[in-house]
Amino acid sequence: MSKKIVIGKEEWCGLPELGLPAIKARVDSGAKTSSLHAFNIHPFEEDGNKYVHFDIHPIQDNRKVIQSCRGLVVDQRNIKSSSGEKEKRHVIRTPISLGDETWEIEVTLTNRDSMGYRMLLGREAMKERVLIDPDASLCLGSINEKDIEKHYNKVGTKKDGLKIVLLASNPELYSNKRIMEAGEERGHEMRFINISQCYMNISSSNPEVHYRGGELLDGVDAVIPRIKPSMTFYGCAVARQFQSVGSFCLNDSVSVSRSRDKLRSLQLLSTKGIPMPTTGFANSPVDTADIIKMVGGAPLVVKLLEGTQGKGVVLAETNKAAESVINAFKSLQANILVQEFIKEADGKDIRCFVVDGKVVGSIQRQAAEGEFRANLHLGGTASSVKITAEERKIAINAAKAMGLKVAGVDIIRSKGGPKVLEINSSPGLEGIEDVTEKDVAGLMIESVEKAVRKK
Ligand code: ADP
Repeated sequence: MSKKIVIGKEEWCGLPELGLPAIKARVDSGAKTSSLHAFNIHPFEEDGNKYVHFDIHPIQDNRKVIQSCRGLVVDQRNIKSSSGEKEKRHVIRTPISLGDETWEIEVTLTNRDSMGYRMLLGREAMKERVLIDPDASLCLGSINEKDIEKHYNKVGTKKDGLKIVLLASNPELYSNKRIMEAGEERGHEMRFINISQCYMNISSSNPEVHYRGGELLDGVDAVIPRIKPSMTFYGCAVARQFQSVGSFCLNDSVSVSRSRDKLRSLQLLSTKGIPMPTTGFANSPVDTADIIKMVGGAPLVVKLLEGTQGKGVVLAETNKAAESVINAFKSLQANILVQEFIKEADGKDIRCFVVDGKVVGSIQRQAAEGEFRANLHLGGTASSVKITAEERKIAINAAKAMGLKVAGVDIIRSKGGPKVLEINSSPGLEGIEDVTEKDVAGLMIESVEKAVRKK
């Protein structure tokens, strides 16, 4: 046996038979098995042997570089991930090179990013071969990521790829970046289009969408609208125009504008029998006392109809306070909802992310200390949660009632069962992808593919 190699907590290694000359691995002796972050995993048989085909992004934080691999399957194993979920994974056997040494290891394939690393090196793969210095890193040298990019393929547009427009305002937002990446890695031609720079010809004979500098945006197969609240009116108009020229719109413009009005949304949900907290709405100040009574008296919640991120949501602890808040809002001509306060929720709510009639992920949000609003923007924290069958059904029905293919349905757990608080037509991806480790952006792209193919 040769001398042991000393390695740190992260190292560059090679997986030559998979065509991966350099990949940075997180070394974790706390994990038994090693894993590779792979996607598009498809098993197949050849000459009586089991193989698996998969794709991988070998470079951290870079989804534009992609490598297709095939490996010999030696097993299938149930593995519990760090978030506690069980997953059946393929196990492949392949040589690994670390420093000057090469030996065979077993690796599981998983569609999860382990802390941003594309590979996790567990203790089974390292035994008798290496010594770990947990305080060190890159003991075997570092490689410039730009240099290794050359060894890999860049994602190209597929011949049958779609022309997809992401209609939004800020290309730097996590959610927007992820949607662009997810589309590109599936071989689609993705284009970020800034809502405010679109203009339209709405003549009935030849409707068109133009973009800054006069470019005609035509031949667009699908539009993914991610319209910020302040852009609702114009954003929905542009999305509607794309629809009128035949582009599929993931979240129909009508559903988006409907979801932006809390009162309209709640009215719609109530007609569909979807449970929600008792809610009152009134215009004239004389009704204040009765509206307070209607929702069961204080403590109660007053909400600005057009508020977002929890900013327009106020808790009134006494009837007197409630009356003052309601009257103050009314004197400003603000439209408000008055709602029973679900105290037992204890500052928690559940965000169910629905894509195409399925809850693809859910997280629990917990309000910061001394706060009752669980919004992440207000310092709330997200964690994983197991939802009940009833909650799942409510979330799916709520998205369906609103006509939304993609929706963030916020549910609060009350004594009387789960209740819907609101439905978001551009739910953020960061919290949900982070906690569930799921490729939610990819599922949105798959939903587009399905709908366009059907069309
Ligand atoms: P926004 O659209 O501004 O996020 P929400 O209606 O979702 O407004 O309310 C923000 C947060 O306040 C919710 O996530 C929830 O934690 C809390 N909240 C809202 N309504 C109630 C209620 N009726 N009872 C208890 N907590 C509530």
